[in-house]
Amino acid sequence: MQKSESVFRQPLSFALDQALLHLENQDRLAAGATADLDLLRKQLRKELTDDGLDPGQVVAELVHDVEGGILGSAGGRFFGWVVGGSLPAALAADWLTAAWDQNAAMYTCGPAAAIVEEVAGAWLKEVLDLPAQASFALVSGCQMAHFTCLAAARHALLAKRGWDVERQGLYGAPPIRIFSSDQRHGTFERAVRLLGLGTRHIGDLPTDSQGRLHPGALAQALQSNPSAPAIVLLQAGDVNSGAYDAFDQLIPIAHEHNAWVHVDGAFGLWAAASPTYRHLVRGVSTADSWATDGHKWLNVPYDCGYAFVLDSESHRASLAHRAPYLTHDSGARDQMDWNPEWSRRARGFPTYAALRQLGRNGVAGMVDRCCRHAHSLTTRIGRLPGAELLWEPVINQGLVRFLDPSPDATERDHDRRTDETIAAILSTGEAFFGGTTWRGRRAMRISVCSWRTSEEDVERVVNAVARSLTQGRGSESGDSLTEPRA
Ligand SMILES: *Cc1c(COP(=O)(O)O)cnc(C)c1O
Repeated sequence: MQKSESVFRQPLSFALDQALLHLENQDRLAAGATADLDLLRKQLRKELTDDGLDPGQVVAELVHDVEGGILGSAGGRFFGWVVGGSLPAALAADWLTAAWDQNAAMYTCGPAAAIVEEVAGAWLKEVLDLPAQASFALVSGCQMAHFTCLAAARHALLAKRGWDVERQGLYGAPPIRIFSSDQRHGTFERAVRLLGLGTRHIGDLPTDSQGRLHPGALAQALQSNPSAPAIVLLQAGDVNSGAYDAFDQLIPIAHEHNAWVHVDGAFGLWAAASPTYRHLVRGVSTADSWATDGHKWLNVPYDCGYAFVLDSESHRASLAHRAPYLTHDSGARDQMDWNPEWSRRARGFPTYAALRQLGRNGVAGMVDRCCRHAHSLTTRIGRLPGAELLWEPVINQGLVRFLDPSPDATERDHDRRTDETIAAILSTGEAFFGGTTWRGRRAMRISVCSWRTSEEDVERVVNAVARSLTQGRGSESGDSLTEPRA
């Protein structure tokens, strides 16, 4: 290395090479981990040195030592949880975000970052067909989007009853009732806990066979105590089935009773971007707040969720802060007025880049393609001998299970067979699927969320699952994938 070269060049160019090796070799890499807990600890637990190390050595050893512990979520054969890939422009922008090292708390400490968020927020509302006057926040994920939206809801509902929750706290405040189906995501409950609303105040409402709230049951619940403040959680894309609540029926009922309607659309809200699927979210734009993710279906790298609030005054009142040492530019949007964080990553850059790369049609195309692949994977795997289709995808989420062939097999045997088959598929390295318990039965989730999943991936994965089923558990297919690193 030349003396005149910066100390950054060697570690960063090494990182670039390694990143490309990882991203361009996904077809040859295992979709799951190949190292176990003990091995990873052995590889990574090093003595912390007194005097530090050369940066190039640190990065080289990091790449070496994580071997076997990096899942294939950057590739096209990863169908666990709801995990998106990363678009090239978004990933590159994310690297620059780290290099630029802006503190995106407010305009004065990251001017371009603040403007990029302003622009990205407006684009997001446009793509998701949300009201243009809604305020927004770019947060770490849907978890904090729920938190942000519910903080605004708490403020608005209590302010209407003469209660200043930011000053008085919840001691002695009128309890806020919360209604949702029992299928709500755990992140919503955590937001309820963190905001002091108390999970005891959540009422489970009955759902139909598709997991959607009954309008009649909602009306009845709200009528039972009409003057009490209430939040109604609706679902745009259930995590197991991708099911959508009937927004155009439910939201008017909630609003008749002055309830605040919050929508969990972590991935499902993106249906709004597609002319083919937007009927699923009909009426969703009349809600009061919406939470979704960039790091799932928009394929932005991790650390990216979005909160939107119709009542921007309540949103701001619940979070804004002024301190004497902060300088505010009165014409600019300071992120800390809308975000729960103070110092924070300039996470607007990757979102801005992702939306610029895709354009409106690109977002729609990615949504449609993921749905098509999820449907193909689920129905083709569901038709294999020994498999059963449990949930045909409405969007990009499907469910299958695997049946114990013995004639007197019980539900527990089918559950065991399902978990064993998922493990057998994982051990081939050909695909990554997760399990779930759905309506009392074990199931394999098929979640397609990456721009990288192709027709060839679908073909390859169906064949791999078929082989796992015929060969039974534990047999070596002979073509197990390992990571081809030196
Ligand atoms: C993933 C998910 C969440 C949580 O999102 P994070 O970004 O992980 O915080 C909430 N709701 C649903 C339906 C999800 O799929």
